[in-house]
Amino acid sequence: MEIFASCMECMQTKGMPLLKPFPAPYFDDRISIVDCDFGHKMAIVLRAQKFELLLESGANALIAGFTLEASASFSAALERFFEFSNKVVLTHLEIGEALYDDVFKFMSRQSERQTGAFLILHALVFNFAYIPNTKLTEFRNAVIHKGTIPTPDKAMEFCELVYAEVFNISSLLNKHCPDAINLILERDFESRASTVPEGIRIHSAQKSSIFSISHENNKEDFAKALENYEKFNATLRHVSKEVPKILEALQANPEASALIDSIRPK
Ligand SMILES: [Zn+2]
Repeated sequence: MEIFASCMECMQTKGMPLLKPFPAPYFDDRISIVDCDFGHKMAIVLRAQKFELLLESGANALIAGFTLEASASFSAALERFFEFSNKVVLTHLEIGEALYDDVFKFMSRQSERQTGAFLILHALVFNFAYIPNTKLTEFRNAVIHKGTIPTPDKAMEFCELVYAEVFNISSLLNKHCPDAINLILERDFESRASTVPEGIRIHSAQKSSIFSISHENNKEDFAKALENYEKFNATLRHVSKEVPKILEALQANPEASALIDSIRPK
């Protein structure tokens, strides 16, 4: 997966017209360490949660027609989302990080234990029962354990249901536990940023993804969220293709080039 980045150092030393976007790949740690065209090294630390990344990866697979991969990513996203939700609720209940770690080390590899914990915590904080969708479990077991390759319609239906769960529970969490969410997002960012080797400039990036817990404008409907995501990616691809051409044209024109030089910081 990748984000389009631009170099702050170039921007500060060479002026805005050299703001050339370039692709920066990232994986599980959501950190991309890249060099710009002028050799400035930077670490781009994404402000994104693991479940958001899995939703995005699933959306990419769905768009490309890989229905099994899309369903597997969405299924994993839901599990990681329950894990995230448990952390939010426990933080909201003022359970410290060390105690959380002590409890969750016994369930971190077992998603069913995490779902069980979520059922209890949901009742405790929201005062009504969370009813797990059995359709999701049946579909997930068919895809993950039996390797069933779903049709595009079935995969879309599954992704829609997962997205709805994430959207609805996120809305509850945002309403009842906003401070706990902010605290967890900040701690997660700081802990990942602390792994960047010393001397590398750290940039934080808020990637526009298919869903983000910290965005206020997430689409309620999955089909709309997917359409929005595709449009955003198309714009990004267009910009990354056109900006270098515009820069080349500007630099090839003596008057434009002189103008660019004149506005560069000394
Ligand atoms: Zn640079």
